Amino acid sequence: MSDCLFCKIIAGEIPSAKVYEDDICFAFRDINPQAPTHILVVPKAHTANILDASDLPDATLAGLLRAIGKIAKAEGLDKGFRVISNCGPDACQSVNHLHFHILGGTQMSEKMA
Ligand code: 5GP
Ligand code: ZN
Repeated sequence: MSDCLFCKIIAGEIPSAKVYEDDICFAFRDINPQAPTHILVVPKAHTANILDASDLPDATLAGLLRAIGKIAKAEGLDKGFRVISNCGPDACQSVNHLHFHILGGTQMSEKMA
């Protein structure tokens, strides 16, 4: 999608700190990290959020979860990490391209909201 920030990052039109890429997904460090490790994992195919996940092949959805695990291992998050996907205004989704936040590198609160 031509005016989508994350599509531009995937295409290399906007620079990012890439940590992982495969046929299905692209991962890069969040510009405004909320934990010592804060990575965004996005499908290369544009879709807005989890509500539109039916637009994506099952292999893409599975590939995203597998990539999250690979990235967490590669980042040394052996003590744990959190995966969040904000969906819609109540969750403060600010970029309308499906993405998963990987947050780790610190002891997090039991509260999630
Ligand atoms: P959301 O609020 O939609 O769940 O998450 C969007 C995330 O994208 C935010 O955590 C924000 O810091 C991050 N972000 C916004 N613009 C950029 C950018 O240009 N580069 C990178 N690396 N992250 C961005
Ligand atoms: Zn996009």
